[in-house]
Amino acid sequence: MSRIPVTVLGATGVVGQRFVRRLAGHPMFEVTQIAASDRSAGKAYRDACDWRLDGEPYAGLGDQVLLPCEPGQAMNPIAFSALDNAAASDIEPAFARAGAAVFSNAASFRMAADVPLLVPEVNPGHLELLPGQRLARGWSGAILTNPNCTTTVLVMALAPLHAAFGVEAVIMTSMQAVSGAGYPGVPSMDILGNVVPYIGGEEDKVEREVAKLLGPSGGPADMVVSALCYRVPVLEGHTESVSVRLKGDPSPEQVREALAAWTPVPQQLRLPSAPPVPIRLHAAENRPQVRRDVEDDGGMSVHVGRIRRCPLLGIKFTLLGHNTERGSAGGSVLNAELAVAQGVFA
Ligand code: NAP
Repeated sequence: MSRIPVTVLGATGVVGQRFVRRLAGHPMFEVTQIAASDRSAGKAYRDACDWRLDGEPYAGLGDQVLLPCEPGQAMNPIAFSALDNAAASDIEPAFARAGAAVFSNAASFRMAADVPLLVPEVNPGHLELLPGQRLARGWSGAILTNPNCTTTVLVMALAPLHAAFGVEAVIMTSMQAVSGAGYPGVPSMDILGNVVPYIGGEEDKVEREVAKLLGPSGGPADMVVSALCYRVPVLEGHTESVSVRLKGDPSPEQVREALAAWTPVPQQLRLPSAPPVPIRLHAAENRPQVRRDVEDDGGMSVHVGRIRRCPLLGIKFTLLGHNTERGSAGGSVLNAELAVAQGVFA
């Protein structure tokens, strides 16, 4: 099968670099265009940005010239967007109007009723929103989004519990990595030896996005979610402390079995970026840990441990996931793999 040519919008940013690295040698997609702001357009990739990831610098595209984020210059059937929110609000619709399927990391369109907010393991059925979106907006392309990184990790654990029992209420307290704030992110003087009890807009985003993801494609799920978000001095990986009230009050063992049995669509289809198992279950009492677990499966699985009784809501556990792989670029690429595999853009 010949690879589908793709554009990376915002290729110079932290998330854009992860797209470029992740897509190098991808079996379905080939990066043929990279684009960024007018500050960078016209420059070679290596001259416009500092490469901040491990592996081959610029993933072999160091000499490629960056284009402006204009459909007339950087068009392809698929665009992966790592644009910041302000830029995404105008640029993503322009590409969708011109016929591209835009897989976005930005928050601009996540909560629009006709835009799929997608995690392939969780709500692949929400792809059914696309024909209505294209009709209503007069686009031959489309916009598909992935959630905030904290939400992504949380719904990966909640989805199998919602399917098996029904989630009624959730309290989630996060310990979030500094990389979630982009580069250079939180100043070292603010975060070293410290915990910051505020991440602007994050708690509200998590509460609304979880309900959209776990609901039908027409509206939010009927559940209460309370998020408490903290920034901690960790480089990559969000740890989340989760308490959940489930219908029927299942035991910790029943919860463990439901998580272990979960084999959602990406694993059934063996999509290239899907981890072999979506949830890695840990029996040891001191796991999961960021430094020991978060890079497993290329950062695409989430980790659950310490499943036990919660005197308040019934069940509590510790959850860990990779915020810049599963929570951003990797999640978007998996979304595109699902859409192509399901023939959405055929
Ligand atoms: P970033 O490092 O600031 O990169 C932003 C990118 O957008 C750069 O390539 C920049 O190009 C480009 N850009 C900015 N203004 C533009 C304009 N007016 N026209 C065209 N391009 C423009 O941001 P990031 O941390 O990678 O985040 C990217 C997106 O992903 C954001 O929407 C963010 O909320 C979301 N996200 C981030 C994370 C994370 O962990 N960091 C996780 C999930 C989602 P120049 O270099 O030329 O300025």
